[in-house]
Amino acid sequence: MSEAPKQAPAQAGRANTKKELPEHLKAYKHVWVVIECEHGAVHPVSFELLGEGRKLADKRGVQLAGVIMGNDKDVIAAVANECFEYGANLVYTVTDPVLNHYRNEAYTKAMTDLVKTYQPEILLLGATTLGRDLAGSVATTLLTGLTADCTELAIDDEGSLAATRPTFGGSLLCTILTLNYRPQMATVRPRVLSMPTRQSGRRGCIVEHPLGLLENDIVTKVLQFVADRESNKAQLAYADIVVAGGLGLRSAENFQLVKALAEVLGAEYGGSRPLVQKGWMTSDRQIGQTGKTIRPKLYIAAGISGAIQHRVGVESADMIVAINTDPNAPIFDFAHIGIVADAIRLLPAITEAFRKHLSVNRLAG
Ligand code: FAD
Repeated sequence: MSEAPKQAPAQAGRANTKKELPEHLKAYKHVWVVIECEHGAVHPVSFELLGEGRKLADKRGVQLAGVIMGNDKDVIAAVANECFEYGANLVYTVTDPVLNHYRNEAYTKAMTDLVKTYQPEILLLGATTLGRDLAGSVATTLLTGLTADCTELAIDDEGSLAATRPTFGGSLLCTILTLNYRPQMATVRPRVLSMPTRQSGRRGCIVEHPLGLLENDIVTKVLQFVADRESNKAQLAYADIVVAGGLGLRSAENFQLVKALAEVLGAEYGGSRPLVQKGWMTSDRQIGQTGKTIRPKLYIAAGISGAIQHRVGVESADMIVAINTDPNAPIFDFAHIGIVADAIRLLPAITEAFRKHLSVNRLAG
């Protein structure tokens, strides 16, 4: 049976490593969140980070700022207002035609300029495709530390960002400190943090920053933007109901039973990592440490053992229903409802029952 991950001791690895922060880095203050905004749509992870950033800023007694980069002034102004309502005191904006589409070069230049000018002590980004790309290049350009895919952020007793992330294949959690460099950077995956409450009408201050970069200065050219219409990656992470299958289903054909139940419930479907390796589903459907983190109201897991790498991606679900033939399966340690049964036989019965129930309700309604 898997054990819950163990928190690294708070002081582990710290005793002999601490040096005095160089004088020129002592001026770095405030917590920043990079707001991921593409074609007018803000990725929800940005607001989740503002919620966590608010707590860190309050603990440090500093301000929380959002950073918005783009080309459309109206969109940026509207997004800035959303940032204030999710807890930001101020928002730095960079508005320039070269920021119309995300390009690493232009966005890295904008971010590093801002950091050098206004000197934040903590810089947070979503561990999305865009966030991971930008965080790595910003950290290397600024020669500072970056802790990727964090599961927890805190301020330690000495005021440093304590960024916790899984290590050793997810069997341990380690807490990483960036003691001698600034800003302290971290990325967090969507849905790992909860969405903060929005305070309607809350306002703050906007600081506009010029970029001074010409199109000719950028090597990468965007010829056309083609929206990924087939993508439902975001829907899985943010779905209210998720039905998932594991190796216990034994074949790709039986995995269709998961899809059938998901369809009847209006849910998203997904699965454990081996199903991607076997080609039963695509990798954007993988749930867990190296897949999606989900926080649905209802999670139904059929034929999934509940290994720690799967558990960390689902344990924030409000209700976990597990179907497994083995009464000692680790998933029963954290499921709210455990059903010891053959999922291949049970799934069609549940699907049929829901289909009848929902159609009766529709007729009655
Ligand atoms: P198994 O562990 O084989 O479990 C199958 C379960 O089905 C068993 O509990 C069995 O009792 C049950 N069963 C059998 N027949 C039936 C039946 N007819 N009806 C009902 N139950 C049945 N895994 C992830 O899921 N997501 C990740 O993101 C992830 N990342 C990883 C990262 C690293 C670095 C590593 C090392 C591993 C990672 N894994 C991940 C893999 C993880 O360790 C497990 O191997 C995996 O989750 C197991 O998948 P499973 O539960 O489908 O299969």
